[in-house]
Amino acid sequence: MKNYLSKKARAITPYTAGEQRNDRKYVKLNTNENPYPPSEKALQAYRALQFADLKLYPSPDSDVLCRAIAQAENVERENVFCGNGSDEILALCFPAFFDPDGEGAAFADVTYSFYPVFCEFFNIPSVIVPLKEDFTMDLDALSAARAQGVILANPNAPTGIGIPLNKVEEFVQKNRDRIVIIDEAYMPFFGQSAAALIKNYDNLLIVKTFSKGYSLAGMRCGYAIGAVSLINGLKCCKDCFNSYPVDRVCQAVCAAAIGDQDYYANRNALVVKERERLSKELENIGFTVLPSSSNFVFARHKNLSGAEVYRQLRERGVLVRHFDRPRISQFCRITVGSKEQNDALLAALREFLR
Ligand code: PMP
Repeated sequence: MKNYLSKKARAITPYTAGEQRNDRKYVKLNTNENPYPPSEKALQAYRALQFADLKLYPSPDSDVLCRAIAQAENVERENVFCGNGSDEILALCFPAFFDPDGEGAAFADVTYSFYPVFCEFFNIPSVIVPLKEDFTMDLDALSAARAQGVILANPNAPTGIGIPLNKVEEFVQKNRDRIVIIDEAYMPFFGQSAAALIKNYDNLLIVKTFSKGYSLAGMRCGYAIGAVSLINGLKCCKDCFNSYPVDRVCQAVCAAAIGDQDYYANRNALVVKERERLSKELENIGFTVLPSSSNFVFARHKNLSGAEVYRQLRERGVLVRHFDRPRISQFCRITVGSKEQNDALLAALREFLR
């Protein structure tokens, strides 16, 4: 049979999202969702939607939502861009800020595994800079790397380790002549966002999401904050691909959610409290846990492989994430759930470690 696929579609290995199994009911701690529901104000906005309005296209640039984000982030509306999940925005960053015949995009060896996929998809060279021995970001090596720009996740995934804001600013300053993209998907659990720095640095783009800190993973919405020239670059690439990536329901619900900061601050503080408890409990039963600033922990058991921990937990109805990759195959990434979910995880672990 003739193969009608392009060379790219035949050859590329896509990103693998966390599994969504439905062979039984699981305690789902594998995709870093928030255990708490979205805010009541977001629900009210959802209920207030006029179904008949869905006959009309949404605002192509998510205008009302961008205004709500600008207000919450204390920036101007023209510094904000919205997309269908932050993954879509991260994808657009590659053609917007990197050239196939340029020096490439620099990022860590252990970081969000979508970055190398985007590089391959858009034919952009990737410049891999290993994390330090202790799994912290090697900012000096990233600064020294020859590359058109840098992308880093803060806090990093899947390690969960955060970089303090003063170090981030120093880094952005050092890299003033090239683009620095900071993926702050897990920032609501760290609280050291560099978003305010965009006023002083036109090379800085911050990418955030509604999926984690706003309990809206099912909505698919993310945003970027940066200088107008960067936002226009994203807009140009978006308009080469999809005029209306964010639907009407999503724009209304997310605008209401971001206006309800008190609710989310409260819930995310509970997640952080549970994270600290979970980390201690895991250490008590023989795990080494990297210091997490996220809504997940990255942990390695002294006697069992990461694959074994993953498998034993799955058999007991608990899903966590294991990456069979260099440097991290001993670890599992465990989402911080509700107290009940974390207790179920710990009970399952105790059962097979006994
Ligand atoms: N960045 C990082 C580091 C992530 O782990 C994720 C979630 N997989 C995302 C971005 C994307 O999140 P979303 O597309 O749901 O906004």
